[in-house]
Amino acid sequence: MEFTKSIALHNEALDHIVGGVNSPSRAYKGVGGGTPVYMEKGAGAYFWDVDGNKYIDYLGAYGPIITGHAHPHITAAITKSAENGVLFGTPTALENTFAKMLKEAIPSLEKVRFVNSGTEAVMTTIRVARAYTGREKIIKFAGCYHGHSDIVLVQAGSGPSTLGNPDSAGVTKGTAQEVITVPFNDINAYEEALKIWGDQIAAVLVEPIVGNFGIVEPKPGFLEEVNRLTHESGALVIYDEVITAFRFTYGSAQQLVGVEPDLTALGKVIGGGLPIGAYGGKVEIMEQVAPLGPAYQAGTMAGNPASMSSGIACLEILQQPGIYEKLDQLGHKLEKGILALGKKHTISVTVNRLKGALTVYFTDKTIENYAQAEQTDSVQFGKFFHLMLRQGINLAPSKYEAWFLTIAHTEHDIDKTLEAVDHSFKQMSIR
Ligand code: PMP
Repeated sequence: MEFTKSIALHNEALDHIVGGVNSPSRAYKGVGGGTPVYMEKGAGAYFWDVDGNKYIDYLGAYGPIITGHAHPHITAAITKSAENGVLFGTPTALENTFAKMLKEAIPSLEKVRFVNSGTEAVMTTIRVARAYTGREKIIKFAGCYHGHSDIVLVQAGSGPSTLGNPDSAGVTKGTAQEVITVPFNDINAYEEALKIWGDQIAAVLVEPIVGNFGIVEPKPGFLEEVNRLTHESGALVIYDEVITAFRFTYGSAQQLVGVEPDLTALGKVIGGGLPIGAYGGKVEIMEQVAPLGPAYQAGTMAGNPASMSSGIACLEILQQPGIYEKLDQLGHKLEKGILALGKKHTISVTVNRLKGALTVYFTDKTIENYAQAEQTDSVQFGKFFHLMLRQGINLAPSKYEAWFLTIAHTEHDIDKTLEAVDHSFKQMSIR
């Protein structure tokens, strides 16, 4: 496989774009280096790079692409909306339609607001929680990424951890002191934190199913206890469902785990691939937001017609019966195959999977929190990533990210992928 044009483009990019990439997780720093592959075109489960190489895509653009690339229903919706004018700066009927769809799918969203990214959505939920409670501190779980607003860039998981800076420079000490970080799945540590800071905590920020140190599910009872203890201390529970909403079921992870937060942040899948974020929750809390309340949040592009149209079209596709069952079946086949190949080649491998999202860790241990994910073998992952890439399988270039299946993937794609895993593990077992 040749990467000549990608290499040339990357050399050019390095002259103009900081680090050559517009999001650091696109660099190959976490996989032992290399030139990021420049994609040109996508269709269904595949994309093609500028050198004409074809890949089965498991990156899914880090989550938004669940229907496959260039799904005709989404493409038609975006085209129609672009033809009608891309931005008005006034309300449109599309915003109502989409808000109603989200509310129907996620009952805890009594009121919503659209923004342009997951970062904005989470950042605003924190502001709203502070406005509502009159308190300043937040609790987050170590290794969970919640976007790049200052307050959440403390022990911040996948992207930052891959690059070796889980705590970003440029975040003031004052801001860092407003965040208390505890290990995920450790209810005793959480209770301890609340004992010390409970009366100062505005909210706890939770990925109800973690996506940012790999796919990690909560232990039974963990989220119920988090809700109970948080509310006892007078703080709010915020679910960051930027990855999880519409990824595992039509609706949100809160429905899967059976626990309802006070506020929810959304992004990724709900935009069908266009820029989007949204947040929402209980009416009396959301009424803190301007123009009704004192917490300010605004956006020139917020609720823009193209993103609304794309999001509506995406959810229409996901409403069809059998979608999540198919993702689960494909995910199961992939998981089973990878584990069997690990045994065959005596490669220690743990797969964490929920439906069509999974993470392959090079370890023989169970992964329930960030510290355990950190301990997994980065060198093996780097080798695996490059071996898979050269066989036309595109994974996220980080051991902390998930593989995302789309409804366009087929059994045949999984077979091809497992052949590539077989070859990769064989190479990796030669020491
Ligand atoms: N929250 C979570 C759970 C995420 O995974 C991400 C992005 N990976 C974000 C927030 C930030 O979203 P965005 O990149 O759209 O700002």
